[in-house]
Amino acid sequence: MQPITHVIGAGLAGLSAALRLTEAGHRVVIYEAGPQAGGRCRSYFDEPLGCRIDNGNHLLMSGNDAAMAYLTLIGAADTLEGPADQRYPFVDLSTGERWSLAPNRGKLPWWVLVPGRRVPGSRALDYLAGLRFRKCGPDATVADLVGRNSRLYRRFWEPLAVAALNTEAKTAAAHLLWPVLEETFGRGGDFSRPLVARDGLSESFVDPALAWLAQRGATLRLSTRVRKVGFHGDRAVSLDLGGEFVGLDQGDNLVIAVPPAVATGLVPHLVAPTEFRPIVNAHYRLDETDAVPGIQILGVIGGTAEWIFRRGTLASVTISAANHVVDEEAETLAPRIWADVAAGLELRDRAMPAWRIVKEKRATFAETPEQVKRRPEARTFWRNLALAGDWTDTGLPATIEGAIRSGVTAATLLRSA
Ligand SMILES: Cc1cc2nc3c(=O)[nH]c(=O)nc-3n(C[C@H](O)[C@H](O)[C@H](O)COP(=O)(O)OP(=O)(O)OC[C@H]3O[C@@H](n4cnc5c(N)ncnc54)[C@H](O)[C@@H]3O)c2cc1C
Repeated sequence: MQPITHVIGAGLAGLSAALRLTEAGHRVVIYEAGPQAGGRCRSYFDEPLGCRIDNGNHLLMSGNDAAMAYLTLIGAADTLEGPADQRYPFVDLSTGERWSLAPNRGKLPWWVLVPGRRVPGSRALDYLAGLRFRKCGPDATVADLVGRNSRLYRRFWEPLAVAALNTEAKTAAAHLLWPVLEETFGRGGDFSRPLVARDGLSESFVDPALAWLAQRGATLRLSTRVRKVGFHGDRAVSLDLGGEFVGLDQGDNLVIAVPPAVATGLVPHLVAPTEFRPIVNAHYRLDETDAVPGIQILGVIGGTAEWIFRRGTLASVTISAANHVVDEEAETLAPRIWADVAAGLELRDRAMPAWRIVKEKRATFAETPEQVKRRPEARTFWRNLALAGDWTDTGLPATIEGAIRSGVTAATLLRSA
């Protein structure tokens, strides 16, 4: 019989591994504890809002190569959309100033020389601080490298670090920001375009992947939690599904693509991140009169909201590294964030419409130098077991791009095992 590769967890890391293994001719079975695939990246129908929403706004950039390759494979590359060009509009609510960060298309970053394309009040030379991220040590934080009093800190480095690393700039590991800068802004505007899932995260990343896998014979078992993994010698040999046991034969492989707290319960002696940061999202259902075609993205400085995504009649807000607001009652948060939305989108006289606050308490691991050192590599002591997940040692922040790459790495290891 053809060997089987078992994949535990149907988040993007597990799905990415499953896709690449299926593509390489493996028989794949995926076990997902939840009733729905997608993990931290999924969409669902929200009754009070009367529409489908994502569990959280997810921003990608056109330079996210692994994410683009994943979408191309499953035929969903055209399901991301973004503003027509690589502009990032911002508003500073404390001063009312508005500007756009507008990298030029080519690789040579002449945009920093043009005052209208950069942060107001900044100088071209200020952006050179970005080069410090290339060779910084593992203990440096973003604030260490760029200085909290620097001209660009509040309006550029801090929002960038918080959005990319979901960790406050004063504690976020600086070296994780370099690959982001290098693979996006460092390659020019064509790689720096902001992109979001047009119809929803599930519609882009999950449903087409599941259809692709099903067409090629892969099995998905939803609502199936793996309780224990059995090991013998240098191999994983069984899965306990809570009463049902699955044996792994010679030649069978296993990918564990679950969150770190679950993985440490399944894999003996595994060292993994132990601290997390929340992300809070607020969704508001606007009137048809306020609907906009396409997608608008607005960075907010000096408010509670950090990013506003406006699509059709939905305005959705992201607050990353949200320890400062996550314990606040939704009823007090909603109007406070709405005030920022109304100001940012210039809807000042509108009453707060129907809303929903979504709190993801463990949105990502805390990307501090100390926690980053706890990321394990994909390869394990057990020769038929590889790890995947945005928290494994991808060299990237805990993002869609990192999760998808981790799945590719796990699949590559097992294909060559
Ligand atoms: C609110 C929010 C906003 C975000 N914004 C962005 C963004 O703007 N840009 C970006 O790139 N990234 C963003 N991210 C991060 C991105 O969502 C994650 O990096 C990515 O989805 C992680 O995928 P994963 O497969 O590693 O983990 P997960 O999605 O956590 O998948 C793990 C899966 O394992 C399953 N599982 C757990 N235990 C078991 C078990 N015992 N047996 C079987 N299955 C099990 C879980 O149910 C889950 O489906 C955001 C995350 C959140 C929460």
